[in-house]
Amino acid sequence: GAEGPSAALPEAAPGDGPLDPPVVLEARGLVKAFASRGARGAAPLRAVDDVSFTLHAGETLGIVGESGSGKSTTARLALGFSEPEEGEVIVLGAPWSRVPEARRRPLRPRLAVVAQDPLSTFDPRWTVGRILGDALPRAVRRDPRARAAAVRRLLDDVGLPAGDGSVLGRFPLTLSGGQRQRVAIARALATEPAIIVLDEAVSALDVTIQAQILDLLLDLQRERDLAYLFISHDLGVIGHVSDRVLVMQHGRVVEQGPTERVLRAPEHPYTQELVASIL
Ligand code: ADP
Ligand code: MG
Repeated sequence: GAEGPSAALPEAAPGDGPLDPPVVLEARGLVKAFASRGARGAAPLRAVDDVSFTLHAGETLGIVGESGSGKSTTARLALGFSEPEEGEVIVLGAPWSRVPEARRRPLRPRLAVVAQDPLSTFDPRWTVGRILGDALPRAVRRDPRARAAAVRRLLDDVGLPAGDGSVLGRFPLTLSGGQRQRVAIARALATEPAIIVLDEAVSALDVTIQAQILDLLLDLQRERDLAYLFISHDLGVIGHVSDRVLVMQHGRVVEQGPTERVLRAPEHPYTQELVASIL
């Protein structure tokens, strides 16, 4: 068969190199600059400056840093919504930066995104049923019975079951923040992704709702071997969900490592400050 000699070996522990779960997303030396808002002729601001990381199947890589440190720009580069000036992104083994969108299209369904405010990405005139139905793969989307069944399943998967009080016919503006974020997660799952980029996905929610959404995300990850690129300014949240963490400051990665180590023994002064602020 096509399987290599490692197929019969037990599951690898993190850090075992060749036996690690496969890399699903890789960033190599990403640089993204924007024209400075200040004086004309000033050097462009490097919003992202030499950022590299790998994300393996089934793990969560957290990116933490204060507002303006370059987290969302990194997310956009990873998603292929923006192109780096230097460096490259590789998604599921395929070149992802500076390639025509047509070449990304076959892999697009494998890479999903959940943003801070779903309202900014939902059409307010669409019901939840339509939002989810239209996110499904084409073959399912166009078959009314399969579509309805798939939408019900997605809602069930995110803890919004059908029946009395179902959100199916509701409009985004009438949902609570937690319900909206569940719908956003359901939409992200519609194409059966391998990777989900979550950019401040729980930052707008009350802490109790935050905890519920994080639990949901962790359950979904265990069931489906999802890889999360989990971005937040909140180290408490990052510490709760991430296997490894990358700390950004002024566009640069100042520290990275296993979450447990970074929280217990932060090396960089900025990380030490962050850790002190949550304890
Ligand atoms: P974070 O998500 O960590 O808050 P961002 O990636 O959004 O940080 O922003 C990093 C820096 O890049 C900030 O200084 C921000 O003002 C700047 N920036 C981000 N996007 C743009 C843009 N489209 N045009 C100009 N500057 C931008
Ligand atoms: Mg941001």
